Amino acid sequence: MTSSEPGPEVVDLVVVGAGMGGLATAVTAADAGLTTVLLEAGEKVGGAAAYSGVQVWVGANHVGRERGIEDSLEDALAYVRWAARQDLASLDEDRTREWLSGAAEAAEYFERTGVITWDLVPDYPDYYYPDAPGAAVTGRYLTSSPYDGRLLGDDLDLLLVSPHFPVGITYGEMFAWGGMSSRTEWDLDLVARRRAQHVLTFGTGIVAPFFRAVLERGVPVLLQHRVASVARQGDLLAVTATTPAGTWTVLARDVVVATGAHDWSEELMVELTGITPENGGTVVPPSVRGDARDLLAGLGATIATLPAWAAPVLPGYRLSEPSFPGDTGYRACFEHCLPHTVIVDAEGRRFADDSFHPAIVRGVLATDPPRFPVFLVWDSQHHAKYGLGATPPGGDYPEGLVCRADSLEELGQLLGIDGGTLRGTVEGYNAGAAEGEDPELGRGSNLSVRRFRGDGNQRPNPCVGPLDRPPFFGMRLRLLSTGIAASGVVAGRAGRLLDRDGAEVPGVHVVGEASARAAAGVGYNSGYSLSRAMAYGYLAVRDICSRRTESGILTTMTPR
Ligand SMILES: Cc1cc2nc3c(=O)[nH]c(=O)nc-3n(C[C@H](O)[C@H](O)[C@H](O)COP(=O)(O)OP(=O)(O)OC[C@H]3O[C@@H](n4cnc5c(N)ncnc54)[C@H](O)[C@@H]3O)c2cc1C
Repeated sequence: MTSSEPGPEVVDLVVVGAGMGGLATAVTAADAGLTTVLLEAGEKVGGAAAYSGVQVWVGANHVGRERGIEDSLEDALAYVRWAARQDLASLDEDRTREWLSGAAEAAEYFERTGVITWDLVPDYPDYYYPDAPGAAVTGRYLTSSPYDGRLLGDDLDLLLVSPHFPVGITYGEMFAWGGMSSRTEWDLDLVARRRAQHVLTFGTGIVAPFFRAVLERGVPVLLQHRVASVARQGDLLAVTATTPAGTWTVLARDVVVATGAHDWSEELMVELTGITPENGGTVVPPSVRGDARDLLAGLGATIATLPAWAAPVLPGYRLSEPSFPGDTGYRACFEHCLPHTVIVDAEGRRFADDSFHPAIVRGVLATDPPRFPVFLVWDSQHHAKYGLGATPPGGDYPEGLVCRADSLEELGQLLGIDGGTLRGTVEGYNAGAAEGEDPELGRGSNLSVRRFRGDGNQRPNPCVGPLDRPPFFGMRLRLLSTGIAASGVVAGRAGRLLDRDGAEVPGVHVVGEASARAAAGVGYNSGYSLSRAMAYGYLAVRDICSRRTESGILTTMTPR
């Protein structure tokens, strides 16, 4: 699809960005009878959503209810509150309630209208805090049922496919193989067979049905249309995009901006998180680069910032050799959750529960300046049992990534850490680790990490084991973004854009990670992001429709 295709000069709605928020918006808008155009900067559809794990956190959702799982929005709210307890003022509870009820309603709407069939991630408690007030032991994680990609016909080629998950496989199957930390146990033949059959799961499995729903509803999807500005033009909004053929403008009554987080903007990453390029990176497609702020600047948009540590970034590293077309080499790693590892700072000291990434991130980013560089250190037991990423247990690590030494002193020298301090740190840790304990920093105390990221065969603690068998290994860690931002454009009710004076900007909504996280505050939990993007895509359209009904222009939400 290109911009040379004929289209209406003036449309009801322009949606900017074809990730989770934009696709949910476009489907809902078409159902409501709004003439809609979806503009996408990338060559393909899906954004970070297509690369994601599709844990969509929805409290009191209809799928759980139909299966007899008890839950309530009040419990979900209690959980969100608890997750944000370190700065409750960062939470706007009106927005939280709006998000939670909107997510439950949107999830049901998209299933009822035939867009998607949901499954529950099996037996999956709230991750990260399964023992927090309001937490659910299961039932809040929606995920897409396996989707037959052939239904998209030739448009299947326009879909981003996640390089980070075994697309084609279900959560149930992946858990049976030992989960995310056990890549080497995955049945790669089965993954390949399902891929050949175009069975789509994980992020690609949620984007595919939404993309098809958008196309079926006749919404033009214009790829390689990177929106550069939204400006007022009389009663309308002029949306201007750069395309391979030059600049292109469309007029709209309403605009929903769903451009995602700011992963690929070095400037915004440094400004908003303090993570510099040599310490950071991202695992999302390169078209996710924080455009919302600039393209809405002329309308008075501002950014609300949360503390850098509220950014749910992940420890990871960068390979020097790409392994698939478009590979940037960045890899999130979960091997730090497994036994026989610790994470240390430049002085060779531990600073956090190094099995639990929110604790690591807080430990690195809550200091001023941030505690970079940090290093993952492990021993030969870890090497023999777990491997690293695509490296099988006992295998050779990628060239240039990992340092290896016969002693911790030597390893310290190779990493640029004081070797004596590193040895002391590891010896101190080993004293408790032999018994599965980490009295100093509580490694392995988070139930979700123990259950889903640790080694179930390691007793008594799946995350704790001593580093006492040479050779020793170490590498510098990065903190990688995953298309989830702590800071974003300030928006109010239903995602209405607010200007720097806090006044609503008529006709403009901001949804998903482009918008500030007032609904969740500094708290994060896996699945908030897709939930929020889906909910606000849906809520923004309802808001647009109700305003138009009030002013006598349109229309009511009528599912097709
Ligand atoms: C490996 C991985 C695992 C993840 N797992 C989960 C999970 O299990 N649960 C969860 O909730 N979240 C998860 N996430 C995060 C989640 O995918 C994102 O936060 C979510 O997709 C955000 O939705 P969005 O619509 O705001 O942005 P996106 O889905 O990123 O979509 C934004 C879209 O806007 C386009 N765009 C950007 N700028 C412009 C412009 N100027 N003009 C036009 N188009 C533009 C982009 O190309 C992109 O297609 C994961 C992410 C990754 C990478």
